[in-house]
Amino acid sequence: MISKPVLDAMNNQGKHELYSAYLYLSMAAYFESENLLGFANWMYIQAGEEQEHAMKFFHHIYDRGGKVSLQAIDQPPVAFKSAEEIFKLSYEHEQKVTGLINTIYQTAAVEKDVASQVFLNWFIDEQVEEEKNASQILDLLTKIHGHVGALYQLDHQLGKRKAGGD
Ligand code: MG
Repeated sequence: MISKPVLDAMNNQGKHELYSAYLYLSMAAYFESENLLGFANWMYIQAGEEQEHAMKFFHHIYDRGGKVSLQAIDQPPVAFKSAEEIFKLSYEHEQKVTGLINTIYQTAAVEKDVASQVFLNWFIDEQVEEEKNASQILDLLTKIHGHVGALYQLDHQLGKRKAGGD
C-alpha cells in the first residue's frame, strides 16, 4: 500500500508530466506555424513521451493500491519568438522536472517505500537524458544563431526522430 505522502506526490507529478506534454505540444504548434516541420516532429514525439510518463505514474499508483486523482493542468505559454528561445525554455523546464522527481524520491525514502524508489530510478535516468537532449539542441541553436541554412539542416536532422527512440 502506498503512503499518503508518496501518493500525493505522485498524483501531483502526473499533473506535471501532462503539463510537459501540453508545453511540448504548444512548442510543436509554433514550429508548425514556422514550417519547421522537423522541429515540430521532435516536439510531437516529446509530447507523446510525456503522456507515457504520466501513465507510468498512473499505473504505479494503481499497482500499489492507491487512487489516481487528476488535477487541473495549467495553460502553457503559447507565444514564442524563436527555436533558440524554445529550447532554452525546454532545458529550464527539464531541470525543474528533475528537481520534482528528486523530491518525490526523497519523500519515498522518508516513507521507506523501496518499491517507489525502484520505480523512480527509471525517471532519474530519463531526466539525465532529457536534460542532455535539450541542452545539446540549445547549444547547437546558440552556435547557428541567425544562420538559416544551418537551421534547416538541424530541422532535417530533428525530423528523423522516431517515437520510441531517444
Ligand atoms: Mg517527463
